[in-house]
Amino acid sequence: MNASSLESEVRSYSRNWPVVFDRARGSRLHDRDGRAHLDFFAGAGALNYGHNHPVLKRALLDYLERDGVTHSLDMLTAAKEDFLTEFGARVLAPRRLDYRVQFPGPTGTNSVEAALKLARKVTGRQTVVAFTGAFHGMSLGSLAVTGNASKRAGAGVPLGHTWRLPYDGFAGGQVSGLKLLDSMLADRSSGLDLPAAVIVETVQGEGGVNPAGPAWLADLAELCDRRGILLVVDDVQMGCGRTGPFFSFEVAGITPDIVCLSKSLSGYGLPMALTLFRTELDVWQPGEHNGTFRGNNPAFVTAAAALREFWADSALEKQTEVRGALFDERLGELAERYAAHVSAHRGRGLAWGLAFRDAPVARRVADAAFARGLLVETSGSEDEVVKLLPPLTAGDDELAEGLDLLGEAVAATVG
Ligand code: PMP
Repeated sequence: MNASSLESEVRSYSRNWPVVFDRARGSRLHDRDGRAHLDFFAGAGALNYGHNHPVLKRALLDYLERDGVTHSLDMLTAAKEDFLTEFGARVLAPRRLDYRVQFPGPTGTNSVEAALKLARKVTGRQTVVAFTGAFHGMSLGSLAVTGNASKRAGAGVPLGHTWRLPYDGFAGGQVSGLKLLDSMLADRSSGLDLPAAVIVETVQGEGGVNPAGPAWLADLAELCDRRGILLVVDDVQMGCGRTGPFFSFEVAGITPDIVCLSKSLSGYGLPMALTLFRTELDVWQPGEHNGTFRGNNPAFVTAAAALREFWADSALEKQTEVRGALFDERLGELAERYAAHVSAHRGRGLAWGLAFRDAPVARRVADAAFARGLLVETSGSEDEVVKLLPPLTAGDDELAEGLDLLGEAVAATVG
């Protein structure tokens, strides 16, 4: 029996990229047949600093060499202490953020589960407001607030206590979800009870790279504040510098009550997640939300090294913003040239999407990119958007090469 027939039918990426990947460095993955692939997928946002970054690798190897603790549940270890010190000093303090840090479990969905549970516990209310196009994870609580019905299909249990509202730009911006929510809550005849929380991505990644406008995000924060609803920002995919600043919500000048982080936190593709919340929301009782893998010390080691390496100043943030302008320009040219097939290009920082009018064309473009040595994935409710998430650390030449290859793939598909 070969490996791919042993793996469940649920596998996805291995179908689109039918090679065996073996080594990876920086922005390139190498397959077993010796072919190099330029990685504009970056672990779905888990590899903002590229593959096997030498500084992070050194920190990890040194830690393993000295028999550093690897698994520790939530015991205090030197690696955890170092990470927390760096996170406080380099991420929270400069932004004047007064958050407590919870280690909710290894992945993004664990962070969302903790956030929803905490919001419900703090407020004593049940409903969570989520948006069209949202993606928050595959476990049941996070799945309940995920928009795409095909992802929720087959969950086998009722996924309740969620209201869905139009995200910024939904239906061409014709419908304002925020005004609707506000007026419904103001009118008792609506029968709506106050929700516990609103959960939002500032740029929807899986939903098709939809950036919410900073003004819309500020309005959302104001509405939540005025009505006493907790605002949860799911920064699992767009955090850790993907859109420029460390937290993607910084663009709107807002301070969420609760923040979910994961993916690129460890900087090395190692599972790690955090849930951050305002200090006064820390109503957890000891052991009330635990899990075996809250203490992935190798991830703490690379995460602390990544904070020292990339977040000691604002150089990476500024570089990402400049590169965002380059992507805007280059993808804008493609959108114009192939306007009959491309409906939009959109993004922020180094998260970009090229939306196609006909969903299967997006898949064909991604396949044509793969054939040319570029890894890109599709996203969006119909998988109609080619999503670009290059490592933030890619060289200018690599970014230009990837954009050229994408251009060739589009030309070969619809030119
Ligand atoms: N939230 C967002 C915004 C995500 O993009 C993802 C993963 N794509 C998740 C949550 C879930 O993270 P994980 O797959 O690590 O559980």
